[in-house]
Amino acid sequence: MINKCWHCNNSIVGTDLFCSSCNHIQPVYNIDPFTLFGIPTFFEIDNKAIADIYFIRQRQLHPDRFILKSNKEKQYALAQVARLNEAYKILCNPVERASYLIKLSGWQTPVEENEKLTQQMMLEQFELREKLEKISDIKNLNNLKAKVENEVMECIFTLSKAFQDQQEVTAQCKTVELQFLKKFQNELENREKIIS
Ligand SMILES: [Zn+2]
Repeated sequence: MINKCWHCNNSIVGTDLFCSSCNHIQPVYNIDPFTLFGIPTFFEIDNKAIADIYFIRQRQLHPDRFILKSNKEKQYALAQVARLNEAYKILCNPVERASYLIKLSGWQTPVEENEKLTQQMMLEQFELREKLEKISDIKNLNNLKAKVENEVMECIFTLSKAFQDQQEVTAQCKTVELQFLKKFQNELENREKIIS
């Protein structure tokens, strides 16, 4: 996407924070987080590379650098920071990243339509909750935590493959499952605080 710099009319790419000609900060254009960070639109991401880009841009947008600038530029900088943070949050969180990829793909089959998969998932979730209910000591809790951590890894692995192979239903089901597992991990943490 090519735009014009508001200050000098030079051509700029939507992902540019600053104009390459006059170096003025640019307004926010509507760009997905993957494009913004210059990475391929895959579920699997290089966390280190993304963190590096994030911290470089955060430094470039630091409020101290805009103290002597116009209000317009201060506002652009603030909007860029907000957009950068939002995109980084989506990329770092596997559930949000998967949901975003599903949105980008235009896949719309609701998970509920696949009754067999949904039922199986509900049963598994029910069993996990039942197990947690019965736990009263730290040893059993740690066993359950390890089991859930394993399931999270498996889920992420399957999700990654589903996106690669464009398996719409699997991708959507696994995203819902991952969302549940992540929430369940929080519940396990809370239980750990109560027990210990
Ligand atoms: Zn310019």
